[in-house]
Amino acid sequence: MTTPGNLFILSAPSGAGKSSLIKALLSQESARPMQVSVSHTTRAPRPGENNAEHYHFINVEQFQKQIKQNEFYEYAEVFGNYYGTSASAIDKQLAQGIDVFLDIDWQGAKQVRIKQPSVTTIFISPPSKAELEDRLKKRGQDSEATIKSRMAQAKAECSHYTEFDYIIVNNDFSQALSELTTIVNNQRLRCQQQAITHQVMFDELLKG
Ligand code: GDP
Ligand code: ADP
Ligand code: 5GP
Repeated sequence: MTTPGNLFILSAPSGAGKSSLIKALLSQESARPMQVSVSHTTRAPRPGENNAEHYHFINVEQFQKQIKQNEFYEYAEVFGNYYGTSASAIDKQLAQGIDVFLDIDWQGAKQVRIKQPSVTTIFISPPSKAELEDRLKKRGQDSEATIKSRMAQAKAECSHYTEFDYIIVNNDFSQALSELTTIVNNQRLRCQQQAITHQVMFDELLKG
Protein backbone atom coordinates (compact mmCIF):
# COMPACT_ATOMS: atom_id res chain seq x y z
CA MET A 1 0.00 0.00 0.00
CA THR A 2 1.36 3.45 -0.89
CA THR A 3 1.50 6.08 1.82
CA PRO A 4 1.39 9.77 0.91
CA GLY A 5 4.82 11.22 0.18
CA ASN A 6 6.91 12.95 2.83
CA LEU A 7 7.50 16.68 2.63
CA PHE A 8 11.01 18.03 3.28
CA ILE A 9 12.28 21.60 3.40
CA LEU A 10 15.90 22.57 2.88
CA SER A 11 16.81 26.14 3.78
CA ALA A 12 20.20 27.82 3.80
CA PRO A 13 21.90 31.04 2.87
CA SER A 14 22.45 31.32 -0.87
CA GLY A 15 25.59 29.39 -1.86
CA ALA A 16 25.58 26.95 1.08
CA GLY A 17 24.92 24.03 -1.26
CA LYS A 18 21.16 23.29 -1.07
CA SER A 19 20.65 22.82 -4.80
CA SER A 20 23.81 20.67 -5.15
CA LEU A 21 22.77 18.46 -2.21
CA ILE A 22 19.20 17.99 -3.49
CA LYS A 23 20.48 17.19 -6.98
CA ALA A 24 22.91 14.59 -5.61
CA LEU A 25 20.26 13.07 -3.34
CA LEU A 26 17.78 12.72 -6.21
CA SER A 27 20.37 10.99 -8.38
CA GLN A 28 20.83 8.20 -5.79
CA GLU A 29 18.93 4.90 -5.65
CA SER A 30 15.88 5.31 -3.45
CA ALA A 31 13.15 3.14 -1.95
CA ARG A 32 10.58 5.81 -2.79
CA PRO A 33 10.28 8.24 -5.70
CA MET A 34 11.63 11.71 -4.92
CA GLN A 35 11.14 15.03 -6.68
CA VAL A 36 12.18 18.61 -6.06
CA SER A 37 9.42 21.18 -6.16
CA VAL A 38 9.93 23.70 -8.96
CA SER A 39 9.17 27.15 -7.53
CA HIS A 40 7.77 30.19 -9.31
CA THR A 41 9.99 33.26 -9.22
CA THR A 42 10.09 36.79 -10.60
CA ARG A 43 13.92 36.80 -10.71
CA ALA A 44 15.63 36.62 -14.10
CA PRO A 45 16.96 33.20 -15.19
CA ARG A 46 20.70 32.65 -14.69
CA PRO A 47 22.78 31.41 -17.60
CA GLY A 48 21.90 27.74 -18.07
CA GLU A 49 18.63 27.90 -16.12
CA ASN A 50 15.59 26.63 -17.99
CA ASN A 51 11.97 27.55 -17.49
CA ALA A 52 9.93 24.82 -15.72
CA GLU A 53 13.15 22.93 -14.87
CA HIS A 54 14.90 25.23 -12.39
CA TYR A 55 12.03 27.65 -11.82
CA HIS A 56 8.82 28.76 -13.46
CA PHE A 57 9.98 32.25 -14.42
CA ILE A 58 7.05 34.68 -14.37
CA ASN A 59 6.63 38.46 -14.10
CA VAL A 60 5.46 40.42 -11.03
CA GLU A 61 1.93 40.92 -12.41
CA GLN A 62 1.48 37.19 -12.98
CA PHE A 63 2.89 36.42 -9.54
CA GLN A 64 0.50 38.86 -7.84
CA LYS A 65 -2.43 37.40 -9.78
CA GLN A 66 -1.49 33.90 -8.57
CA ILE A 67 -1.25 35.18 -4.97
CA LYS A 68 -4.80 36.57 -5.26
CA GLN A 69 -6.03 33.27 -6.69
CA ASN A 70 -4.55 31.43 -3.70
CA GLU A 71 -2.34 29.32 -5.93
CA PHE A 72 0.70 29.37 -3.64
CA TYR A 73 1.26 26.94 -0.79
CA GLU A 74 3.68 29.56 0.49
CA TYR A 75 5.46 32.55 -0.98
CA ALA A 76 7.98 35.13 0.15
CA GLU A 77 9.99 38.07 -1.07
CA VAL A 78 13.69 37.12 -1.12
CA PHE A 79 16.47 39.46 -2.34
CA GLY A 80 13.81 41.80 -3.82
CA ASN A 81 12.15 39.05 -5.90
CA TYR A 82 9.08 36.96 -5.26
CA TYR A 83 9.46 33.19 -4.83
CA GLY A 84 6.58 30.77 -4.28
CA THR A 85 5.61 27.10 -4.16
CA SER A 86 2.62 25.96 -6.23
CA ALA A 87 0.01 24.32 -3.99
CA SER A 88 -1.56 22.13 -6.69
CA ALA A 89 1.82 20.78 -7.84
CA ILE A 90 3.00 19.58 -4.44
CA ASP A 91 -0.44 18.24 -3.43
CA LYS A 92 -0.43 16.11 -6.56
CA GLN A 93 3.13 14.81 -5.97
CA LEU A 94 2.45 13.94 -2.31
CA ALA A 95 -0.82 12.18 -3.22
CA GLN A 96 1.14 10.01 -5.67
CA GLY A 97 3.46 8.87 -2.83
CA ILE A 98 6.37 10.99 -4.02
CA ASP A 99 8.73 12.46 -1.40
CA VAL A 100 8.92 16.18 -2.19
CA PHE A 101 11.83 18.52 -1.45
CA LEU A 102 11.30 22.26 -1.12
CA ASP A 103 14.34 24.51 -1.55
CA ILE A 104 12.85 27.57 0.11
CA ASP A 105 13.89 30.39 2.42
CA TRP A 106 13.17 30.61 6.19
CA GLN A 107 10.03 32.70 5.68
CA GLY A 108 8.55 30.02 3.45
CA ALA A 109 9.60 27.30 5.92
CA LYS A 110 7.72 29.15 8.66
CA GLN A 111 4.51 29.23 6.58
CA VAL A 112 4.72 25.53 5.65
CA ARG A 113 5.33 24.46 9.28
CA ILE A 114 2.01 26.07 10.25
CA LYS A 115 0.11 24.46 7.35
CA GLN A 116 1.72 21.04 7.62
CA PRO A 117 3.29 20.35 11.05
CA SER A 118 4.50 16.91 9.89
CA VAL A 119 6.98 18.54 7.48
CA THR A 120 10.67 17.72 8.08
CA THR A 121 12.80 20.87 8.01
CA ILE A 122 16.56 20.91 7.45
CA PHE A 123 18.93 23.85 7.73
CA ILE A 124 22.07 23.62 5.59
CA SER A 125 24.88 25.69 7.04
CA PRO A 126 28.08 26.74 5.32
CA PRO A 127 31.20 26.00 7.42
CA SER A 128 32.17 29.70 7.53
CA LYS A 129 31.40 33.12 6.06
CA ALA A 130 34.61 33.10 4.02
CA GLU A 131 33.77 29.70 2.49
CA LEU A 132 30.23 30.86 1.66
CA GLU A 133 31.56 33.91 -0.20
CA ASP A 134 34.10 31.75 -1.97
CA ARG A 135 31.39 29.34 -3.18
CA LEU A 136 29.19 32.16 -4.46
CA LYS A 137 32.17 33.56 -6.39
CA LYS A 138 33.22 30.16 -7.73
CA ARG A 139 29.68 29.32 -8.82
CA GLY A 140 30.22 32.25 -11.17
CA GLN A 141 26.55 32.89 -11.85
CA ASP A 142 25.88 36.08 -9.96
CA SER A 143 27.26 39.60 -10.41
CA GLU A 144 29.53 41.12 -7.78
CA ALA A 145 26.66 43.31 -6.55
CA THR A 146 24.35 40.28 -6.26
CA ILE A 147 27.01 38.35 -4.33
CA LYS A 148 27.42 41.30 -1.96
CA SER A 149 23.69 41.48 -1.34
CA ARG A 150 23.44 37.70 -0.82
CA MET A 151 26.29 37.80 1.70
CA ALA A 152 24.47 40.59 3.55
CA GLN A 153 21.31 38.44 3.60
CA ALA A 154 23.19 35.34 4.76
CA LYS A 155 23.22 36.55 8.36
CA ALA A 156 19.43 36.97 8.36
CA GLU A 157 18.92 33.45 6.95
CA CYS A 158 21.42 31.91 9.42
CA SER A 159 19.79 33.65 12.39
CA HIS A 160 16.84 31.22 12.03
CA TYR A 161 18.86 28.01 12.35
CA THR A 162 17.25 27.00 15.67
CA GLU A 163 13.77 26.81 14.06
CA PHE A 164 14.69 23.69 12.05
CA ASP A 165 14.38 19.98 12.94
CA TYR A 166 17.88 19.14 11.62
CA ILE A 167 21.11 20.98 10.86
CA ILE A 168 23.66 19.79 8.30
CA VAL A 169 27.01 21.57 8.05
CA ASN A 170 27.99 21.36 4.40
CA ASN A 171 31.76 21.27 4.77
CA ASP A 172 32.70 17.92 3.24
CA PHE A 173 30.08 17.40 0.48
CA SER A 174 29.92 13.61 0.65
CA GLN A 175 29.46 13.66 4.42
CA ALA A 176 26.70 16.27 4.09
CA LEU A 177 25.00 14.11 1.44
CA SER A 178 25.22 11.05 3.65
CA GLU A 179 23.68 13.01 6.55
CA LEU A 180 20.86 14.20 4.30
CA THR A 181 20.22 10.61 3.16
CA THR A 182 20.08 9.50 6.82
CA ILE A 183 17.45 12.14 7.65
CA VAL A 184 15.30 11.08 4.68
CA ASN A 185 15.55 7.37 5.58
CA ASN A 186 14.81 8.15 9.21
CA GLN A 187 11.56 9.84 8.22
CA ARG A 188 10.57 6.88 6.04
CA LEU A 189 11.10 4.44 8.92
CA ARG A 190 8.74 6.19 11.33
CA CYS A 191 6.04 3.99 12.85
CA GLN A 192 3.10 5.77 11.22
CA GLN A 193 4.53 5.20 7.76
CA GLN A 194 5.84 1.67 8.29
CA ALA A 195 2.50 0.59 9.79
CA ILE A 196 0.74 1.47 6.52
CA THR A 197 3.47 0.13 4.22
CA HIS A 198 3.58 -3.21 6.05
CA GLN A 199 -0.10 -3.47 6.94
CA VAL A 200 -0.47 -6.92 5.31
CA MET A 201 2.55 -8.25 7.23
CA PHE A 202 1.26 -6.93 10.55
CA ASP A 203 -2.22 -8.34 9.84
CA GLU A 204 -0.59 -11.75 9.31
CA LEU A 205 1.57 -11.45 12.44
CA LEU A 206 -1.43 -10.54 14.57
CA LYS A 207 -3.84 -13.10 13.10
CA GLY A 208 -5.42 -15.84 15.20
P1 GDP B 1 20.20 30.09 -4.28
O1 GDP B 1 20.04 30.43 -2.86
O2 GDP B 1 21.53 30.41 -4.81
O3 GDP B 1 19.69 28.73 -4.61
O4 GDP B 1 19.30 31.15 -5.05
P2 GDP B 1 17.83 31.15 -5.62
O5 GDP B 1 17.66 32.43 -6.37
O6 GDP B 1 17.53 29.89 -6.30
O7 GDP B 1 16.87 31.28 -4.36
C1 GDP B 1 16.70 32.55 -3.64
C2 GDP B 1 16.00 32.36 -2.30
O8 GDP B 1 14.68 32.10 -2.51
C3 GDP B 1 16.52 31.20 -1.44
O9 GDP B 1 16.55 31.60 -0.09
C4 GDP B 1 15.51 30.13 -1.66
O10 GDP B 1 15.48 29.21 -0.58
C5 GDP B 1 14.28 30.96 -1.80
N1 GDP B 1 13.27 30.28 -2.54
C6 GDP B 1 13.34 29.61 -3.70
N2 GDP B 1 12.17 29.11 -4.04
C7 GDP B 1 11.33 29.49 -3.07
C8 GDP B 1 9.94 29.26 -2.86
O11 GDP B 1 9.21 28.61 -3.63
N3 GDP B 1 9.39 29.79 -1.77
C9 GDP B 1 10.11 30.52 -0.90
N4 GDP B 1 9.49 30.98 0.17
N5 GDP B 1 11.40 30.73 -1.06
C10 GDP B 1 12.01 30.24 -2.13
P1 ADP C 1 22.62 27.00 -3.04
O1 ADP C 1 21.64 26.19 -3.81
O2 ADP C 1 22.49 26.80 -1.55
O3 ADP C 1 22.64 28.45 -3.40
P2 ADP C 1 24.68 25.60 -4.62
O4 ADP C 1 24.24 24.17 -4.51
O5 ADP C 1 24.43 26.34 -5.90
O6 ADP C 1 24.09 26.45 -3.37
O7 ADP C 1 26.24 25.62 -4.25
C1 ADP C 1 27.00 26.81 -4.35
C2 ADP C 1 28.38 26.48 -4.93
O8 ADP C 1 29.16 25.77 -3.94
C3 ADP C 1 28.32 25.57 -6.15
O9 ADP C 1 29.29 26.00 -7.09
C4 ADP C 1 28.66 24.18 -5.59
O10 ADP C 1 29.29 23.38 -6.56
C5 ADP C 1 29.61 24.51 -4.42
N1 ADP C 1 29.53 23.58 -3.28
C6 ADP C 1 28.44 23.01 -2.72
N2 ADP C 1 28.77 22.24 -1.66
C7 ADP C 1 30.12 22.31 -1.54
C8 ADP C 1 31.10 21.72 -0.64
N3 ADP C 1 30.74 20.90 0.38
N4 ADP C 1 32.40 22.03 -0.81
C9 ADP C 1 32.78 22.86 -1.81
N5 ADP C 1 31.94 23.44 -2.71
C10 ADP C 1 30.63 23.18 -2.58
P1 5GP D 1 18.16 31.80 -6.15
O1 5GP D 1 17.65 33.09 -6.65
O2 5GP D 1 19.61 31.83 -5.83
O3 5GP D 1 17.74 30.66 -7.03
O4 5GP D 1 17.39 31.53 -4.75
C1 5GP D 1 17.55 32.40 -3.67
C2 5GP D 1 16.79 31.91 -2.49
O5 5GP D 1 15.36 31.79 -2.73
C3 5GP D 1 17.23 30.55 -2.04
O6 5GP D 1 17.57 30.65 -0.68
C4 5GP D 1 16.03 29.69 -2.24
O7 5GP D 1 15.95 28.69 -1.27
C5 5GP D 1 14.85 30.65 -2.14
N1 5GP D 1 13.70 30.15 -2.80
C6 5GP D 1 13.65 29.56 -4.00
N2 5GP D 1 12.40 29.21 -4.29
C7 5GP D 1 11.63 29.57 -3.24
C8 5GP D 1 10.23 29.45 -2.97
O8 5GP D 1 9.45 28.93 -3.73
N3 5GP D 1 9.82 29.93 -1.80
C9 5GP D 1 10.65 30.51 -0.91
N4 5GP D 1 10.14 30.95 0.22
N5 5GP D 1 11.95 30.64 -1.14
C10 5GP D 1 12.45 30.18 -2.30
